[in-house]
Amino acid sequence: MATIAFIGLGHMGEPMAGHLVAAGHTVRGVDLNPAAAAAAAARGVEIVGSVAEALAGADACLTSLPKPEHVRAVYGGDDGIFAHAPASAVLMDTSTVDVETSRWCHDAATERGLTFVDAPISGGTAGAEAHSLTFMLGGRPDDVERAREIVAPMAGNVIACGDAGAGIAAKLANNMMLFISVMAMSEGSQLAERLGLDPRVFWEVARVSSGDSWALRTWYPVPDVVERAAANNNFEPTFSVDLARKDCGLAVQAGDVTGVHLPAARLALAQLDELIAEGYGGKDCTLVAKLASPDGTLRGFDPAADAAASAAPVPTHA
Ligand code: NAD
Repeated sequence: MATIAFIGLGHMGEPMAGHLVAAGHTVRGVDLNPAAAAAAAARGVEIVGSVAEALAGADACLTSLPKPEHVRAVYGGDDGIFAHAPASAVLMDTSTVDVETSRWCHDAATERGLTFVDAPISGGTAGAEAHSLTFMLGGRPDDVERAREIVAPMAGNVIACGDAGAGIAAKLANNMMLFISVMAMSEGSQLAERLGLDPRVFWEVARVSSGDSWALRTWYPVPDVVERAAANNNFEPTFSVDLARKDCGLAVQAGDVTGVHLPAARLALAQLDELIAEGYGGKDCTLVAKLASPDGTLRGFDPAADAAASAAPVPTHA
């Protein structure tokens, strides 16, 4: 069994680290947020105070961090992963970042004689809990095979995508498609409702018809249809508007670099920006359904309850 450092124990990292513990590994975790660290500790993760402590003698290191700037800081800082990783460890970043940041990780690791694999994931918090995530791996073939073994307890599918940055390239294209399909599902849900359909009946129809999508099956934005959907929990995030905006923005940026035309992704990006401007960056990205509603209200979403909750601080991690 391996010793694994896990940096970033948020919505995704906490259940992922828990599955590594359940598989028999020793997992040493770090998170700046004490509530996130406590939730991971409850799953058997040994919480330590620094990246250096987590990495001492580790066979592998996984990161699950919000944005590219966090990844660059956690890998490249004086107290960071590159400064403390044992030469024999395999380093894997599961965060969604831009292709340039991922290649920067690969290059910086190679310069120091370290092994890095880009290992972004798909499947959401439900997939993380169910250890059915899809891992998209990018790097040298031998390194990718080492990474494949480590990620197995968290994965439903592990796909070797190619060289350095290939995993993240696949992830950005995939998530761009996701946010376009969130928009489609959102508009469909509101139209069905205003046409007088029972939401559950419409969902049953779409699920076995041409309107089906992963978003529809997992994130339907109407209460009491899909068990784990944010619509059942006042749109508390399973995947926040801020993170969705980041992913969609990175895909649009990649479109600018490659010259690919992305009108639908730009529209999805504009809707996410609109929610952020309204102060909803911390809510679930399926709140875009609100923008389809004729009067801006959305069943399952109570902004007043939200304001009351934010007046009385609550832990961000259950
Ligand atoms: P999150 O914000 O819930 O978790 C990130 C964690 O990193 C937080 O707990 C934060 O405190 C911690 N952190 C930030 N800086 C740190 C540092 N310097 N040292 C230690 N910990 C630090 O985000 P998430 O939803 O778990 O997503 C993590 C990554 O996975 C993101 O890149 C996201 O785009 C990607 N992702 C998320 C989902 C999803 O459905 N939530 C799905 C696939 C991929």
